[in-house]
Amino acid sequence: MAMPWRQSLRLGTYLAKQKILRREKFPILVELEPLFACNLKCAGCGKIQHPHDLLKQRMPVEQAVGAIEECGAPMVSIAGGEPLMHPQIDEIVRQLLDRNKIVFLCTNAVLLPKHLHKFAPHRNFAWMVHLDGLRERHDASVCKDGVFDQAVDAIRQAQAAGFRIMTNTTFFDLDSPQDVIDVLDYLNDDLGIDHMQIAPGYAYEKAPDQEHWLGVEDTHQLFAKAFAGGRRKKWRLNHSPLYLDFLEGKVDFDCTAWAIPSYSLKGWQRPCYLLDDGYAATYRELIDDTDWASFGRGNDPRCANCMAHCGYEPTAVVATLGSLRETIRAAVN
Ligand code: SF4
Ligand code: SF4
Repeated sequence: MAMPWRQSLRLGTYLAKQKILRREKFPILVELEPLFACNLKCAGCGKIQHPHDLLKQRMPVEQAVGAIEECGAPMVSIAGGEPLMHPQIDEIVRQLLDRNKIVFLCTNAVLLPKHLHKFAPHRNFAWMVHLDGLRERHDASVCKDGVFDQAVDAIRQAQAAGFRIMTNTTFFDLDSPQDVIDVLDYLNDDLGIDHMQIAPGYAYEKAPDQEHWLGVEDTHQLFAKAFAGGRRKKWRLNHSPLYLDFLEGKVDFDCTAWAIPSYSLKGWQRPCYLLDDGYAATYRELIDDTDWASFGRGNDPRCANCMAHCGYEPTAVVATLGSLRETIRAAVN
């Protein structure tokens, strides 16, 4: 099953408008990082390696909301760092919802029970909880025992309070197809997660663990085996069918990282949140002053193993909406 219908409808309307306006490059979702600090130290994280003075900074509310308004994207994924360590994160969420944005608040969920009362369920809001596997696997991924149980408890509390819950699971070469099946079955059937996101781990240069990234062929094999027999249709995955085909190696796409830009304390990151080729002051400057053709697999060696959502899901979404057959498949899958 693909994306939630409200999100798909909103996205379809927005993309149709971009087509009518003949815009070639436009934002679909912004990765907003209003801080880099975190309460965990995951081995695969490329964000918590920033210098101490940067880790102490928090983005002012007006700056965060102003950047989203300038860029005009309909969806915002607030990450970090751990966003719940930002003292005004509830205000940032509220102001974005007031501007009719679809907002995902990413969290490792450790602080979620403490801060839940600051938020209210909203049709355009979902918690996005980081869960990289079942208990042993997730605790190893975040380098701390007990975090899986804390996250599951937090999810249950948020569900009981009426919130929509999504999860984000990153797979590495330690994971087998059966691990993918087991964690998605658990999230879908046992925990009742509304929609799940999956990703092959990207080889961040700054991450402490440099040994367990997936290559493109590994990614194809992992997902082709995990999805075999039409299994993926029963999971509530927050992806277009074409992006899942891409993960399985059934189709190939160019990178369109300009559609999922990243805005942080340092500005608009060039060209995407995975690479670090400088920063632009505005989204317009990012679009105009970046040589987009020099990025993507086959163009930049750093992109060689990338199959990330931020580069390739937008390409899949645009291809879906450009084809009646794919649009129908996305609606019924
Ligand atoms: S929880 Fe997220 S931001 Fe924090 S260390 Fe882990 S991957 Fe990085
Ligand atoms: S392929 Fe695209 S999304 Fe991936 S690292 Fe390169 S520019 Fe970023």
